[in-house]
Amino acid sequence: MGRLSVKITPRKARRPATARTGWLERAHEQGNLGRADMHIHTKHSDGTASVKKLMDYVRDETDLSVISVTDHNKMDGAIEAKAMERSYPFEVVLGEEVESSEGHILGLYIEERIPPERPAKWTVAAIREQGGLAILAHPFSPDTLSKSGLCNGFEALTSGAVFDAIEVYNSMPLLVRANLLARHYAFATGDVAMVGGSDAHALRAVAQAYTLFEGTSATDLYQAILRHRTCAMHRPWVLGESLKYAASYPFMRRNRWLNKRAAQAATPAAAGAADTLAPRRRAK
Ligand SMILES: [Zn+2]
Ligand SMILES: [Zn+2]
Repeated sequence: MGRLSVKITPRKARRPATARTGWLERAHEQGNLGRADMHIHTKHSDGTASVKKLMDYVRDETDLSVISVTDHNKMDGAIEAKAMERSYPFEVVLGEEVESSEGHILGLYIEERIPPERPAKWTVAAIREQGGLAILAHPFSPDTLSKSGLCNGFEALTSGAVFDAIEVYNSMPLLVRANLLARHYAFATGDVAMVGGSDAHALRAVAQAYTLFEGTSATDLYQAILRHRTCAMHRPWVLGESLKYAASYPFMRRNRWLNKRAAQAATPAAAGAADTLAPRRRAK
């Protein structure tokens, strides 16, 4: 499959590919635009909703055509959602939010779990080996939110890792400045797709941010990211809803703690086997 490999290190005098939006008007006229939320958590990591409730919510309350369940360092929720896909009017992309040692990286269109705590370059290579796409999540998020799970991804930005997209809008509260910086960085750098993701840990946040893309299917979304035919979109938070969501941060923190404890209690042999997972190329 052809790939537009790009570096996101700053370059001079180059018109950002992301600024070319003629495709957007054409796609709009043709009714060929889809909406994707590629950053959603469930109870399998630190989210508060079950996969079934998430799937029902997306069907009943949103106009999303593609979603991805991206639990922290786990694919159980994504696999569960994929298994239910046929009963719902939208598509599910298998994914994971990998906590690399240099920032959080969304691995999409992958089939096997990728272990955390590896350098960003290694993580991106592991995602690519499975034919997947690597998206840097919430770069520039403030360090004060790190205990709630929002790791600042600036180290990943400067690591030399080559990302397919940058999440320039993340709907978690208190990220106004971080989102502006991420969008500015992506524009200044050029040649990287810009996407939006809700990072929903509760149902009310699903689709609060999303990616508008050329096409309507999961396959279209893959191609749209590679061709930079995506736009990061978001819906304004109602103040009361935003405060309610911010109030759930302690629950997220507790869920993270419980999940970490469960992972530590898992058999060392199993944990070791997962952590030695070597990047493998997916059979075509
Ligand atoms: Zn994250
Ligand atoms: Zn997340």
